[in-house]
Amino acid sequence: MTPSEAAKLLAAAAAFDGRDAESEAAARLWAEALADVPADADTFASVTRYYSTPPENSARRKWLEPHHVRTIRQEIRDARIPDGAFTYPLPTGSETGAEFVVRRRQQIAAIADGRINAEPIKQLKGGPHPSVADALTGVGRMPDHVREALADALPGRRAREEARLRGDADALAIPCPWCHAGTNDPCKRRRAAKGDKPGTWFHRTSPHPGRVDAAAIAARACPSCHAPMGVPCAHPDGRFHDGVHPARQTARPAA
Ligand SMILES: [Zn+2]
Ligand SMILES: [Zn+2]
Repeated sequence: MTPSEAAKLLAAAAAFDGRDAESEAAARLWAEALADVPADADTFASVTRYYSTPPENSARRKWLEPHHVRTIRQEIRDARIPDGAFTYPLPTGSETGAEFVVRRRQQIAAIADGRINAEPIKQLKGGPHPSVADALTGVGRMPDHVREALADALPGRRAREEARLRGDADALAIPCPWCHAGTNDPCKRRRAAKGDKPGTWFHRTSPHPGRVDAAAIAARACPSCHAPMGVPCAHPDGRFHDGVHPARQTARPAA
């Protein structure tokens, strides 16, 4: 919200608690504290809710503060999202992963706004983003004895073979989002610089955890949260999960 919107919010609070709503400094600070919170109906409703519910304990209630607005607004919005029910958008073949994420966020906001109803997932559909599919092409075509020989010869290859035997997604099938190692290249790390010498790059023997997660997302749907292939894991309210659910990491690849 902007300082002028924050001033209106402070005026609403002043109607309840008689504070000085004219302070420009306060409006500026509130706008700063709530920069990512829009001045919408839910935000104003949070002020009313704060002053229309009894204090949690007998201690004298504090004045409304920005964090109260943030928390209560989220409660108002969360209450509109049914437990365990959320709508994944219909997969469209031409949509990129990034476009999907944008559309998914808009959908979550629409559910929380009360503009649409969340519906349970009926059926898993869709495939990976075309670039992911391209990256996966060719995986698994190398003869086993060549794979095994390479596993001993190159750093990072052994971990790849071990993952393959466990049925884990092939982390090296996609570039690493952390160290930017390319497809099929092992992850790298940089030894600290000494004196005036720059650091030196080394191959890591195991992929970065973020790459392992990204590979699982690219390779298979999640058995826990039902995120389709190529779509990050989500919490029941639809927000994206950091990393992936364990069942997705170790599941056998989808046929
Ligand atoms: Zn890496
Ligand atoms: Zn999941």
